[in-house]
Amino acid sequence: MKLLLTAGPTREPIDAVRYIGNRSSGKMGLAVAEAAVERGHAVTAVLGPVELPLPPAVRRVDVETAEQMRQAVLAEWPSHDVLVMAAAVADYRVAHPTAGKLDRRAGPVVLELQPNPVIVAEASAARRPGQKVIGFALEAEDGLARARLKLREKGLDLIVVNPLATMNASDVSATLIWADGREESLPAMGKAAFARRLVREAEVLFSMDRAGPAGRRSDA
Ligand code: C5P
Repeated sequence: MKLLLTAGPTREPIDAVRYIGNRSSGKMGLAVAEAAVERGHAVTAVLGPVELPLPPAVRRVDVETAEQMRQAVLAEWPSHDVLVMAAAVADYRVAHPTAGKLDRRAGPVVLELQPNPVIVAEASAARRPGQKVIGFALEAEDGLARARLKLREKGLDLIVVNPLATMNASDVSATLIWADGREESLPAMGKAAFARRLVREAEVLFSMDRAGPAGRRSDA
């Protein structure tokens, strides 16, 4: 299986030195990359600016902005089987970044923010038969309904719903929601164990269309 993985934040420039972005350690992405390599899969990782000691077998594409991540994902996607979109993409970019460095002495600055394109939705819309798409959602405890909506809107096969407390934590208490309506709340586990489980689920999704009707899961 050829896995395309995104991880880390993106940075959207305000001027030559400042940026806005989301918080993200990229650790979940790193764990997924390690688990996938362990299982013998080929992995390409499109990474926002984050220091991650990826396994040497991983092909690494470094990007900074959401637009660069979008270009990289759309360029790599046709040669991969499963996309795991673990990046914390910045929701907005600055409409008119300043070329040089803004001078604080000039007083307050108003930034116009443009929503970024939703990369995973574009990748889903562009897929060929058999390609599978997995996304993430960070939600408060009552966020499952919102996650179900995101699954549909973004054209995902599977969404991993993490409580807000997962940020910077070593444990994950995720709920998995599939496009076919199945849901499973997993017990709290370390990121490595969770990543192994997720890679198994990616393998199952990928093998569904390949096994032919006789090999399909009855609930698929
Ligand atoms: O809507 P929300 O940001 O919670 O959705 C998270 C999922 O969508 C993640 O898989 C994230 O990588 C993806 N995403 C994206 N492009 C964006 C924002 C989020 O692909 N601009």
